[in-house]
Amino acid sequence: MLKPNAHYTELKDSYLFYHIAQKTKAYLDVHPGAHLYRMGIGDVSQPLCKAAIDALHTAVDDQAQESTFHGYMPECGAPFLREAIAAHYAARDVALDADEVFVSSGASDELGDILDLFERGSTVLIPEPAYPAYVDANVIAGNRIVHLPTGKAQGFLPLPDTKIEADVIYLCSPSNPTGAVLSRAQLQQWIDHANRTGAVILFDAAYEAFIEDGALPHSIFELPGARTCAIEICSLSKTAGFTGTRLGYTVLPKTLERCGQNLNAMWVRNRTTKTNGISYILQKGGAAIFTQEGQTQIKAQIAVYKRNAKILTDALNDCGIWYTGGKNAPYIWLECPGGMKSWDFFDYLLQNAQIIGTPGAGFGACAEGYFRFSCFGSVQETTMAAKRLKEVC
Ligand code: PLP
Repeated sequence: MLKPNAHYTELKDSYLFYHIAQKTKAYLDVHPGAHLYRMGIGDVSQPLCKAAIDALHTAVDDQAQESTFHGYMPECGAPFLREAIAAHYAARDVALDADEVFVSSGASDELGDILDLFERGSTVLIPEPAYPAYVDANVIAGNRIVHLPTGKAQGFLPLPDTKIEADVIYLCSPSNPTGAVLSRAQLQQWIDHANRTGAVILFDAAYEAFIEDGALPHSIFELPGARTCAIEICSLSKTAGFTGTRLGYTVLPKTLERCGQNLNAMWVRNRTTKTNGISYILQKGGAAIFTQEGQTQIKAQIAVYKRNAKILTDALNDCGIWYTGGKNAPYIWLECPGGMKSWDFFDYLLQNAQIIGTPGAGFGACAEGYFRFSCFGSVQETTMAAKRLKEVC
């Protein structure tokens, strides 16, 4: 008799967003037609930039001609895109070979799939508050999860604890949900810790494009020692509005080895077995993001989300509410006023200001009493939400 993976029974319900949707529906049932200010969404609102759209159109036309048609693409990514991404890193003084860049269909897929590199039952360290998929992917894989709580005193930034031993360490910087960013010195501590203990860091850099402070690292590979302990998982979702188009990339150095096995070679083997590559059309669209024109256009889009962040953080400053994030990230993480719990503050904002945010408690036990605003809406909506926030807080 087939035995299903019993670890699925250990998964907690994806309570957070389901519960938000339920509460929102209940409010609208009582207040039909009410306008809600959705400051909780993690999806972008601006369309793809012109450089990407033009490249996508051209690539579609390529597929119509025998002379330019592309069938299966190389499993690890088209050389033109791998080279463009390596050149993008080179511009930041990070030397990569193109075959250390793996094109993916997004960070979510990679964050789960990459666990194929590690033995089942590995110990995985997840600093919290955390992006919920880290926990769920590891529950499904049957790994042992060690939660590392962080708090206000350290700005919600995790630092290595020598007492905790882990095989795999997740780091997300800029962080979803807190918007906090590890400094070079803090990230260096993690790199040194991983090299000392033999752990591998999975560095989720999905929000690196939002960093504006020149002293903060965009990539873990900007720091010495990372090439022997880190894998970087990146996405064009928030960088360039590819949430619905789907494209990402993973950097896995050829110098990363454990127990005599080369993880880059293993990942090549994995991808050539489990994928047939990413569509030619999407990779052409993605390559356009790494041109000068594409970079200028996505920076203009990110500036809109940053403007939203400023509007919201100005309002929080006026209300005297503590927060982190917002400056180098599209998320603002705030302390619920008056000692309110996360879900109580959610209800309070919904009932009194028709604002929907995300209760921190959904991101880990240490996040109770905190709340997340995201900055991906329109400037107009965000401005109205900030005004209402000031009226009720
Ligand atoms: N990592 C983090 C921290 C995220 O917040 C998200 C999406 O919200 C992802 C990864 C997934 O990104 P993708 O759309 O590339 O799957």
